[in-house]
Amino acid sequence: MKTNVVTFHYTLTSPEGRLIDSSQGGDPVIYLEGSGHIIDGLEQQLRELPAGAKKKVQVPAARGYGLRDDTMVQKVKRQALPVAELKLGDQFQAGSDRHAPVVTVVALDDDDVTLDANHPLAGVDLLFDVEIIAVRAASEEELAHGHVHGAGGHHSHAGGESGGCGEGCGCH
Ligand code: ZN
Repeated sequence: MKTNVVTFHYTLTSPEGRLIDSSQGGDPVIYLEGSGHIIDGLEQQLRELPAGAKKKVQVPAARGYGLRDDTMVQKVKRQALPVAELKLGDQFQAGSDRHAPVVTVVALDDDDVTLDANHPLAGVDLLFDVEIIAVRAASEEELAHGHVHGAGGHHSHAGGESGGCGEGCGCH
């Protein structure tokens, strides 16, 4: 099976019609098929679509950002957090590693803060409204590197990190 590089725009809403995210008006998302750059449940349903195609894609939570895990909600002492000001809904990274989970403040009082390390979209069924912008065959070099060369995507809810090359890639 040939592997493509696909460029698309999307608008993401919840089943209740709440707008979660959209690439419209910004840069489209670009990904290499099979690289894990966008969530599986979305990629599978975009396969074989030609440029110009529009499709509504439903991705159940379990195949999107996963189901909620209540053990990932923890109460910590407020003074243990290196953050002076806190309010409900604040999000920050729980560590200096750039892959550290993002936690959300879901409750707080003078002494304790309850942090939820579930992905903000965990447990949410996703509804993508997709428009395919371009489809082309991946180059040998892209297949070898496992990512797209040239203009890359940006962080988005449809995907993960940028589609550009990492350090040590040597392809710039
Ligand atoms: Zn590369």
